[in-house]
Amino acid sequence: MTFIVGLTGGIGSGKSAAATLFEEFGAAVVDTDAIAHELTAPGGTAIAPIRAAFGDEVVAPNGALDRAAMRRKVFTDAQAKGRLEAILHPMIRAEADRRSAAARAPYVVLVVPLLVESGGYRSRVQRIAVVDCPEAVQVARVMSRSGLSAEEARAIMAAQVGREARLAVADDVIDNGGELAALRPQIEALHRRYLEMAAVS
Ligand code: ATP
Repeated sequence: MTFIVGLTGGIGSGKSAAATLFEEFGAAVVDTDAIAHELTAPGGTAIAPIRAAFGDEVVAPNGALDRAAMRRKVFTDAQAKGRLEAILHPMIRAEADRRSAAARAPYVVLVVPLLVESGGYRSRVQRIAVVDCPEAVQVARVMSRSGLSAEEARAIMAAQVGREARLAVADDVIDNGGELAALRPQIEALHRRYLEMAAVS
């Protein structure tokens, strides 16, 4: 059985930075956000069911999901978000399963931003690693990366589970409250442990 580590953390915590390092050390990385983007890109397999559910107006001329149009729908129709997720989430999980099973690496790092919030992933992973940093640091990173205001960054964070709840389910905590350089030795140490765990799983 493939040994799978679920990697999660709040917005801007440093999941991508951590995943990149795991990949450098030799893990296979499966990223659910990347899968979601592929499914909704031009020609993506989620486009047909999304078009059938919401109409042509949520599909851009190039055949990709029109995210702005979809956001407007979700804003005006309370059930639209749930319907969209009912289409997308099973497809994302199925593709994540497929990629994890096909991985040719000692273990898989499955990046799931909302791992704690979404029940479907807890049973798929043998271990949960949480990238952690103070919320003020998260806000600052999100602002500098995306040009969002502090209020917008905090609004996104408010829709996610809080820092304590995430830490409560963590088997391993990756401290990314400091310099980026401080990540590497932590990931290297975890990589060694995961290799050992994968070998006996
Ligand atoms: P998201 O949930 O938004 O996809 P993420 O958890 O994957 O975010 P990253 O994309 O890895 O987070 O990092 C967010 C931003 O913060 C990036 O611009 C990244 O370069 C920067 N960053 C990450 N870690 C650090 C650090 N230790 N010091 C300074 N900047 C950092």
